[in-house]
Amino acid sequence: MDRQQILDLYDWALGICFRHPSRGRVQTAVVGTIHPADDGERQVRGCADCVIAIEDMRREAAARTGGEYVPGRLGECPG
Ligand SMILES: [Zn+2]
Repeated sequence: MDRQQILDLYDWALGICFRHPSRGRVQTAVVGTIHPADDGERQVRGCADCVIAIEDMRREAAARTGGEYVPGRLGECPG
């Protein structure tokens, strides 16, 4: 699966990348959620570079552990 195929699995919208805030508003996708004690739930958004980087890490981790790698699920709750 190439980079574009993985990116196509996500919904993109302008936002601030959690790792690259200095880039300003760029196309981002939800890569996770955090639960601050005082603020319910907040989505974490990442730019295309970060989505690919995180997907790569997940694929490598799955290969190491023998687990299944399914791209396109970064923003979903585990389980
Ligand atoms: Zn980024």
